[in-house]
Amino acid sequence: MPPKRIFHFSAFLLSITLQAQAITASDIVDTVTTAGYSNHLAHLYTHIGESRGFTDGPSPRIPAYQHDLARDYMISNFTAWGYDTWLDPFEFDVNFSYDNDSNSYHYAGCNNVVATKRGYGGTNIYLIIAHYDSVDSGHRNVILGPGADDGASGVAALLEIAEAIKDYIFKDTIVFLACDAEEKDYQGSIHFRDHHISDKPSETNSTTFLKSSIRAVVNLDSIAYDHTNTPYNVAVGRVAGSSQAAFAVGASIEKYTDLSVEYSSGFDESDHISFYNIGLDAVHVIEYDFVNYWGETNFVKNPYYHTDYDAIDSPDYLNLNYAADVTKGIAGAVCDYATPIFPATLNQSISNNTLSIRWFTSPDIEYELYGTTDLTANAWNLITQIDATNDVVDQTVQLDLNTVTGNVFRVLSR
Ligand SMILES: [Zn+2]
Repeated sequence: MPPKRIFHFSAFLLSITLQAQAITASDIVDTVTTAGYSNHLAHLYTHIGESRGFTDGPSPRIPAYQHDLARDYMISNFTAWGYDTWLDPFEFDVNFSYDNDSNSYHYAGCNNVVATKRGYGGTNIYLIIAHYDSVDSGHRNVILGPGADDGASGVAALLEIAEAIKDYIFKDTIVFLACDAEEKDYQGSIHFRDHHISDKPSETNSTTFLKSSIRAVVNLDSIAYDHTNTPYNVAVGRVAGSSQAAFAVGASIEKYTDLSVEYSSGFDESDHISFYNIGLDAVHVIEYDFVNYWGETNFVKNPYYHTDYDAIDSPDYLNLNYAADVTKGIAGAVCDYATPIFPATLNQSISNNTLSIRWFTSPDIEYELYGTTDLTANAWNLITQIDATNDVVDQTVQLDLNTVTGNVFRVLSR
């Protein structure tokens, strides 16, 4: 097991008291902002006249307009933030559900974008997914589909969450998956599922994930439309039956934001269905006002769904504060379940030949204090172990320098 965080300090060199505050999940969630979210959404080519679709002529149909520029925006950001970032290329033949004719076409040059933060110590895997392709002129009633809500709104959330957590180590593994070709009957998520998830531990590696370790697949598709005359709600939809993931995600959304969560089953029209179909707990987070799911008498629905005006610059359309709130809720869920391992932040002081060490810890993390008299020999003696607690705590250890072996100390978290 590799050391997670190491903090070296010398009892004799430091006599000042360092002030430190405990870091909490809320501090991470609070770095998700409307400005940050909107910046990512605008950089995903979501204006009127832009599109992340494909050519609409004879086979092969290939990425067109700003499709690959949006892909490259994601890659450069995920990479700069330190994620293990890779492309998952694929091609397929399909006669998709919403097309202009009844022909089958061959699509080539498609790529899912995957960014992984590998966990330390934990075995769970959480997939946070969205789709970056948009509808195109191969679809009915569309010339150029900017797809700002469907589905760039979810991709902007992936980016904003990835940026918020980039500096933290987590116990469990987090996989951000930006699917291609969702609008072609979920071909990107189907490809990822069939080629990068395995039942066999011997087949897993940095790009193939163990199915039994995947605790949840959370799909963010269409999260930025909120009509002003309806409740400030977001829907967490499951496909059928019960879903631990749905209620866990919903609880975090309500914990970190003012949103109310509506739970419903029957949500099967986006990429989470690909994962549900192999038995994974997969849920769809979607704007409450997408359609009249709830039997309201005075209902609204997204007016620009699958049109040329599903754009960031369509007047009186998207509510980016709302989308940022949904994003905060999902960032909170990532923290609540994948568990950040915060660095120990230290206060120390010396009096009467006694060293007081005080550090702020986080839930479920054990800390071990080691000492050595010979740093170059790298021979550390365990002095004491601080057990995990279920709350953020501020712990103090008194060390009598007459009895403790060592004059240089370090703390490991695990
Ligand atoms: Zn769509």
